[in-house]
Amino acid sequence: SLSGKTAIITGSTSGIGLGIARALAGQGADIVVNSFSDSQEDHGIAEGIASEFGVKARYVQADMSKADQCRALVETAGACDILVNNAGIQHVAAIDEFPVEKWDAIIAINMSSAFHTTAVALPMMRKAGWGRVINVASAHGLTASPYKSAYVTAKHGIVGMTKVVALETAEEPITANAICPGYVHTPLVEAQIPDTMKKYDLSREDALRDVILQRQPSKQFATVEQIGGVASFLCSAAAEQITGTTISVDGGWTAL
Ligand code: NAD
Repeated sequence: SLSGKTAIITGSTSGIGLGIARALAGQGADIVVNSFSDSQEDHGIAEGIASEFGVKARYVQADMSKADQCRALVETAGACDILVNNAGIQHVAAIDEFPVEKWDAIIAINMSSAFHTTAVALPMMRKAGWGRVINVASAHGLTASPYKSAYVTAKHGIVGMTKVVALETAEEPITANAICPGYVHTPLVEAQIPDTMKKYDLSREDALRDVILQRQPSKQFATVEQIGGVASFLCSAAAEQITGTTISVDGGWTAL
């Protein structure tokens, strides 16, 4: 059980981050929910987790594109036994047309934020005598696609950073690993289905199989519950010697 442990999950008001927050709450961890928006709905998500799982949960606003806010998130939480660096955005464009501000935002949110949160969280983990750093990378942390230069760069970068954190904590009861999902059924991906159907004049089933899941051999999405399950496993005693590595949840994508 993760009872008495505090988990901070960046970008956890929707999708994978929320799935991981719910899975860790299900194991008894107290939860810090984060996003940049600070809406009533955001606070409601934390309240919902607290009442559903009987844990402490609160929402802390912080923009993961800003170094000082990344650091303040962990400081405000006051404890961090489990750090899940999940916040991430995407932009698709050819490299010679890629907007500089999109490049900067993706590098900051998808990669540098994890450097800042980890820097503040590690001393807390050392003091507590236990810690887990879980970085949500991607199949794009291990392989590339055209038109995703910033995303692929940031995700490869965070896989590298994961290895460094693992080596710097190797003799301590702290591990650092990256989860590498393929396509996961999140609201973000669901929203792309109607456009894809229209663009290629395909049924929902064909759009999923031939376009969206083209590179996922299983032809099925991973679910946020499955990603949450992997995060829970990385916090379990069975995973104590798993550090500095990646766990793919991609239906065979990176086996291709
Ligand atoms: P999502 O859009 O559903 O959730 C992203 C979350 O990040 C939201 O809570 C959003 O509020 C938050 N966020 C965005 N910008 C932020 C900022 N500047 N500061 C703080 N929070 C911010 O996306 P998702 O699909 O759940 O993706 C989550 C992570 O998983 C990302 O790192 C993404 O790259 C990775 N991932 C997703 C998939 C997929 O198929 N969905 C596959 C591989 C990896």
